[in-house]
Amino acid sequence: DDRIISPEPAPGEAYDRALRPQTLSEFVGQEAAKGNLKIFIDAARGRGEALDHVLLFGPPGLGKTTLAQIVARELGVGFRATSGPILAKAGDLAAILTNLEPRDVLFIDEIHRLAPTVEEILYPAMEDHVLDLIIGEGPSARSVRIDLAPFTLVGATTRAGLLATPLRDRFGIPLRLEFYTPAELVRVITGAARKMGAPINDEGAGEIASRSRGTPRVAGRLLRRVRDFAEAEGAAVINRIVAARALSRLEIDEAGLDANDRRFLKALIENYGGGPVGMDTLAAAIAEARDAVEDVIEPYLLQQGFIQRTPRGRMACAKAYAHLGLSEPPKPAA
Ligand code: ADP
Repeated sequence: DDRIISPEPAPGEAYDRALRPQTLSEFVGQEAAKGNLKIFIDAARGRGEALDHVLLFGPPGLGKTTLAQIVARELGVGFRATSGPILAKAGDLAAILTNLEPRDVLFIDEIHRLAPTVEEILYPAMEDHVLDLIIGEGPSARSVRIDLAPFTLVGATTRAGLLATPLRDRFGIPLRLEFYTPAELVRVITGAARKMGAPINDEGAGEIASRSRGTPRVAGRLLRRVRDFAEAEGAAVINRIVAARALSRLEIDEAGLDANDRRFLKALIENYGGGPVGMDTLAAAIAEARDAVEDVIEPYLLQQGFIQRTPRGRMACAKAYAHLGLSEPPKPAA
């Protein structure tokens, strides 16, 4: 996925790490999630216990990995990270679990993509801190039980509904991350620019913020590209004009939509009369994987009121017609 505004991390985005906030107070926005976490972290620390398991859900690039690292740092414990698709066999997870120190944080990204055999050993590990392993095969197979250190699992997923109910129910602290407001993104951008040593003013940051789809990862990436343009132009500071010019060259419009978003809206309106139409049909029409459309394109268009979900499929809203400069079909007489 090479979209400039893809919220997925691009290979080699090492700067990501350098820009990550290190503490809860440095972490911009998500006030509801942060407020709850602070209380539970303080309580767990006070009792000297492992924090209850945390499920973070929300679209990619909103700070789930960053928040998981901050939780470990605020608890003063170790941090291990892996992801659902990487853990192919039960043994892979068992090896990680048996190496955790008491109260450590284990972060599993894309936890909805765990293999069923791996998920099975996760349940008793989360609940009773034990591992039930089958050793050997056939008639000589036997099961052994291994005690684990109490640990905190922080799971991340794009949509809570992707998780099997028994897994979802084992998280004591489910937290939904929301898209960021433009004002919050201005703080993210200003902070990142300071760390990068890139001079920017509030208007410049505001211009980037309003086109970042409510997503810090997109904001960071746009800032990098805008800085490149600013340097090429010899601009001393990234102001509104410099930012706007760079962003239009990247084909990102004033609403923060890129070519793929516009293709999605166009297909919905021009091929399917504005809907309702099913997601499989729409994804096929723009030659994208359904998952990618549901995780990346759809949530922001929904949140911004360009489209709506109905039981019969996705529908274009008036805002989508206006944005593309198309006229709405006449409403059928009631
Ligand atoms: P996710 O795991 O949800 O995909 P990440 O935690 O990897 O998202 O965050 C993506 C990028 O955005 C990182 O570079 C991170 O530093 C930055 N970021 C995310 N949330 C915040 C925030 N609240 N404040 C500042 N920067 C953030």
